[in-house]
Amino acid sequence: MKTVVCPFCGFGCRLLVDEKSMRAKPYPGQPNRGKLCPKGLYSLEFVRSQGRLKRPLKRVGSAMVPISWGVAVEEIANKLLEIRELYGPDAVAFLSSSKISNEENYLLQKIARLFGTNNIDNCARLCHEASVHALKLAVGTGAQTNPYEDLENFNAVLIWGYNPAETHPVVMNYVLRAKRRGAKVIVVDVRETRTMAFADYKLIIKPGTDIVLANAMANVITGEELYDEEFVRSRTSGFSEVRMAVMKYTPEYAETVTGIPAETIREVARAFALAGSGAIMWGMGLTQHVSGVENVLAVINLALLLGYIGEKGGLYPMRGQNNVQGAAYMGALSEFLPGYVPLTDERFRKRVASLWGVDDLPTERGLYLTELWDAIERSDLKALYIVGENPAVSEADFTRVRRALRKLDLLVVQDVFMTRTARYAHYVLPASAFCEKEGSYMNSERRIQWSHKVCEPYADSKPDWEILAMLGRALGLPGFNYTRVEEITVEYFRLFPELEERSVDELKNGEGIFLPRKRLHTWEFATPDGKARFMAVERISPWEEPSEEFPLILTTVRLINHYNTGEMTLRSPSLVKLMGEPKVMINEKDAKRLGITDGDWVDIETRRGRIRMRAKVGGVPEGLVAIPFHFKANRITSPALNKAGTPEFKFSACRVKKM
Ligand code: SF4
Repeated sequence: MKTVVCPFCGFGCRLLVDEKSMRAKPYPGQPNRGKLCPKGLYSLEFVRSQGRLKRPLKRVGSAMVPISWGVAVEEIANKLLEIRELYGPDAVAFLSSSKISNEENYLLQKIARLFGTNNIDNCARLCHEASVHALKLAVGTGAQTNPYEDLENFNAVLIWGYNPAETHPVVMNYVLRAKRRGAKVIVVDVRETRTMAFADYKLIIKPGTDIVLANAMANVITGEELYDEEFVRSRTSGFSEVRMAVMKYTPEYAETVTGIPAETIREVARAFALAGSGAIMWGMGLTQHVSGVENVLAVINLALLLGYIGEKGGLYPMRGQNNVQGAAYMGALSEFLPGYVPLTDERFRKRVASLWGVDDLPTERGLYLTELWDAIERSDLKALYIVGENPAVSEADFTRVRRALRKLDLLVVQDVFMTRTARYAHYVLPASAFCEKEGSYMNSERRIQWSHKVCEPYADSKPDWEILAMLGRALGLPGFNYTRVEEITVEYFRLFPELEERSVDELKNGEGIFLPRKRLHTWEFATPDGKARFMAVERISPWEEPSEEFPLILTTVRLINHYNTGEMTLRSPSLVKLMGEPKVMINEKDAKRLGITDGDWVDIETRRGRIRMRAKVGGVPEGLVAIPFHFKANRITSPALNKAGTPEFKFSACRVKKM
């Protein structure tokens, strides 16, 4: 039996995989304690499914023809160098993946920066980058503050815009253990979710009004003097501005905006404040709005008012993919060096440069993933190297993304499957799947875990780190003579003082290493003055409001048995069988008005386009329509970006017609 990290969600379950039968069962220790959700259980099925890439391919006219690894990598490197020579290094961008290992993310951002550009990003941009920006502003570190195990010791858990019962099912065991101890579970969402089945308080909020609810709760907490005076005085700044700003957000006013009764807002604010300790968990219901950064700041204010951070509480921005936290920590972000260090931090930047054998690294922020498409349309960007991402399906308003991909002088896609994005590529490189290679991954609680190789790479595929090492050498960059993945692990360990004394063996044989430590902010915040900062925020309206033409609000939701663009889960027969057919949820009253009954085929249309699905009547409030994210949802989602570059996947104006 070998231990492998689940390739799906950011909870980071470990699987015990039998090398002969290739079946997975749950690891008994941390973090999943003997539990797995169906995705983890059936995670090996896609590895041997149809459609795996077997060998490198090159576009010749409209055909993709096989070529050797040596020729492929040399030609790609020569074309990248040629484009750099003609247009400069910023005409090239690298898109990393939240599914590949720390070592692989580390190598791709190293290639980008040594090549001369900060055009390196990953799909953290699409989910929790708003949380990173808000957390950096408020507490100085853009990551989850506490381990999962703390959840079961807090007296209240506030779950906001997040449906862990479907997205991170195993974390629910921690929440339920807290509940069995008597903790209050409060769930805020735009519809009745599976998670709400476990809630003491269910708050169905009108989409896009989260700041009003959070400010109204802060109004009650400050007005009734329920806040932790000692914590606020000694460990924070900016309290009086926030107290002033929330005065007008009375529960009565909030009721008119959010649809939640004023008395319920009071009751919930009091219950959360008087619990004495509490966690706040949130997901993309908060971040995927044009107000994403401000939404997160508004809920962080609640934690700061009550001192629910460090020992008495924690902030849990639950990560989407299995290594989205690691991708960010390894520096696969266009505005941060490894460890979320700003590009402007000269001391750290030069230290990284010196480790890599050069004098300095580029200092200008690179393009966000969500800015790449306009840059291609402007002809500023000529080449894109994508590892393990599928923007032709995962990006909002993907029609414009597909148009942009066709315009590139060079598109390289390195992936396990011939994805929708790979169909536009000039070169396609076959990567090995998660269980065919070794490497480390960091889960949402910042635990780095080793994933062991269980079987040999499929056909002529290679682990991503091997391909990237070949590319680095072909580009003539210094320091790419790696022969074992562990050499890269040791190299990234050297960037973090907390890891300097740790060994790869410890990582391989134990239950993981927390970076930088298990709990953050227990006695000091990572801000310049060591204090957390309250940030007063006002409601920001969605980018497009419903109108006569598009009278309904469209949101996207996740399903327990599927994952992102479905490239992996739709290739698992067991998961497909469990899931059944995807459906659009529509309220009973809206359905009646539109003549729609359960199971009817309907068109869902926004200003971007139209998709067709069967209807499921019920499950959402009047005026709201919810579609699963995993299929073709992004043909019609909103591309409006928030300050962190995340699209407003959760709010579009739409109309629905029966076919
Ligand atoms: Fe994998 Fe997440 Fe399910 Fe655990 S909860 S088995 S990490 S998908």
